[in-house]
Amino acid sequence: MIEFRQVDKYYGNFHVLQNINLTISEGEVVVIIGPSGSGKSTLLRCINHLEKISSGELIVDNINVHDRKTNLNVLRQEIGMVFQHFNLYPHMTVLENITLAPTKVRKTTREEAQKTARHYLEKVGLAHKADAYPNELSGGQQQRVAIARGLAMQPKIMLFDEPTSALDPEMIGEVLEVMKSLASEGMTMVVVTHEMGFAKEVADRVVFMDHGQVVEENEPKAFFENPKEERARSFLSRLL
Ligand code: ADP
Ligand code: MG
Repeated sequence: MIEFRQVDKYYGNFHVLQNINLTISEGEVVVIIGPSGSGKSTLLRCINHLEKISSGELIVDNINVHDRKTNLNVLRQEIGMVFQHFNLYPHMTVLENITLAPTKVRKTTREEAQKTARHYLEKVGLAHKADAYPNELSGGQQQRVAIARGLAMQPKIMLFDEPTSALDPEMIGEVLEVMKSLASEGMTMVVVTHEMGFAKEVADRVVFMDHGQVVEENEPKAFFENPKEERARSFLSRLL
C-alpha cells in the first residue's frame, strides 16, 4: 500500500530523511517511534505530499506520489490524516466539520454526507455531539471527531501524528480505543506515537527512527524485548 524506495529529503542543507526504504502492506498497522526531531512527522507528511521528497520514489496505492502528473486531490482522498492538534473548524458544528470535505471534494450530496458522518460519529462514540461546536467538547472528544472526519472520506490509509500528545492523560485511552478498533477492522494505519502500550498491543510492526534514518524495524514483541541496535536500546531505556 505504501512503499518508500531510497527516499531522501532535505530541508535546505539539512538531510532530514536519509535513504528510507519502507514497505507497508494493506491492512498493516505500523507504529513509528523515535526521538523528537528524528524525522517522523516529515516521513508521514511525505506520504500525502504535504512535504516533497528530494530523491527516490514513494508509491502509495500504485500512485507515484511525487510524479508531476499525479493528481494530488485523488491521492489525498485515499489518505486520512489526524494531527496532534485536532484542527477542527471552530465556527462549524461537529457534523459540518465532518461533511465539509465529502461534499466539497468528493461531491457527495449533503444527505449522503450527513448519513456517513453520523455513521462514523457513532463509531467514535459521539453520535450525541453532532450539533455541538468544537469548543463545547473535551480534547479527547475533539480528537475523536477529527478521526471521524478523516474516516468520512473513506480513505484506504489513515496517518496519525502523535494523536494523543496534546491530550490530558485521562483522555488518551478513549482515543487509543477508537484507533484500536479501526486497526481491528483492517485499516492500513501509520501511527507516530509515544504510547508504547499501544505499539505493543496494536502494531504489526514497529519502526524506530533516529536522525532521519530507519534504524530498526521489527514486530513489537521482538523489538521491545530485544532491540538489536544500540540507538534503539538507549531510546527505550530512556523511556523507563
Ligand atoms: P519528529 O516528528 O520526529 O520530531 P520532524 O520530522 O518534525 O521530526 O523534524 C525533523 C527535523 O527536521 C527537525 O530537526 C526539525 O527541526 C526539522 N524540520 C522540520 N520541518 C522543517 C521545515 N519545514 N524546515 C526546516 N526544517 C524542518
Ligand atoms: Mg513530529
